[in-house]
Amino acid sequence: MTTDHGFASARPIDPALADRVLAEISQDEVIGFLQGLVRIPSVHEPGDTREAVAYCAEPLRKAGFATRFEQLEEIKPNLVAEYGEGTGPTVMFNAHVDVVPTGELLAWRFDPWGAEIDEGRVYGRGAGDDKASVTAQVMAGVALARSGVPLTGRLIVNEVADEEVGGVAGAKWLAESGILKPDFAIIGEQTMNRVNVGEKGGAGQTITVLGRAAHGALPWEGANAIEGMAEILVALRRELWPLLDGRTHPYFHHSSASPNLISGGVKSNVVADRCELFIDRRLVPGETTEGTRAEILAIAERVIAGMPGLSVTIEGRWMALEASLTPDDHPLVQSMVAANGYLGYDTTISGFSMGTDGRFFSKQGIPTIIYGPGDPKLAHIPNEWVGIDEVMAATRAYALTGLSLLSGR
Ligand SMILES: [Zn+2]
Repeated sequence: MTTDHGFASARPIDPALADRVLAEISQDEVIGFLQGLVRIPSVHEPGDTREAVAYCAEPLRKAGFATRFEQLEEIKPNLVAEYGEGTGPTVMFNAHVDVVPTGELLAWRFDPWGAEIDEGRVYGRGAGDDKASVTAQVMAGVALARSGVPLTGRLIVNEVADEEVGGVAGAKWLAESGILKPDFAIIGEQTMNRVNVGEKGGAGQTITVLGRAAHGALPWEGANAIEGMAEILVALRRELWPLLDGRTHPYFHHSSASPNLISGGVKSNVVADRCELFIDRRLVPGETTEGTRAEILAIAERVIAGMPGLSVTIEGRWMALEASLTPDDHPLVQSMVAANGYLGYDTTISGFSMGTDGRFFSKQGIPTIIYGPGDPKLAHIPNEWVGIDEVMAATRAYALTGLSLLSGR
């Protein structure tokens, strides 16, 4: 595969240049930066990112980046920091500074905004998701600039708002509006520092059953929408879920569905004339959002056809994106794998089974991978943490990937 920029495969990393860049990375600076960032509560709601992105801009600006903020909403600025003016490719690092709420404080052993260090780990809300990635990207950018290694292309460090609520004022807007059109995008999320070449798709579906109201004492006069939905759900569990278990891909968990919201009825003594069920569908490569809708509808319609007085509709909602995959042999993938290999890290390629902001860039045709420190299982829970070693490793890997994509010819 050849890119527009004419290199057919990842270039080997030049050890002399790598040494110059890696010499600019210090653990005290990197982990101190992460701690400072975790202490800024850029939490939903409202997801105010003003202080967090200003904090990220500061070391980049000092290192020579041109920094600016792009915002759709006043309290949700996104940092765009650019370095290098060459005619080569543009490489973008992207991660998010917004974090989910702490949940029950009694469940935390550490102050969620304290960024305390214990046994080689930094604890706090957002420590892993996603401020470890933000830190590694910012510090990698700083190291590249400080090293003085000439770059033939441009590096963009893009730290965004709104990822945890769908990216509307963050990456979705930046990608769809064309404000950011890099040649390569590296999305920082918790991949445990493995190169992830894509992410699963998502297609939320809302099933609505309509029936006929009647007095609760005379149910035969009505048609109960809740009973109709119960039959649909049982049929889906028996017929569709096993099929999804069988739809596999080596880089992802299998295809899945989870009924996560249900509502129906209006009053305790009225036969329910409406019931809604929301299904969270996650797609592996090869599945389509329309196919997902059609297969649920087919089962629901068959069930409801046997229940007089009821009707059913289905509406696709939320995400509605198919899985994305950048080919393994793409120079972006191979450059990051080569950086991991050079540093002695795991070079296994895999995929991300949750959604990321990467989907908005890959939808625009931009080659995108996902890479970052931390374990996704620790995200959004009490006592979230990230390992100091992992953050340092990611900083080095981002820096060397940027180096190999942006230097020499
Ligand atoms: Zn995240």
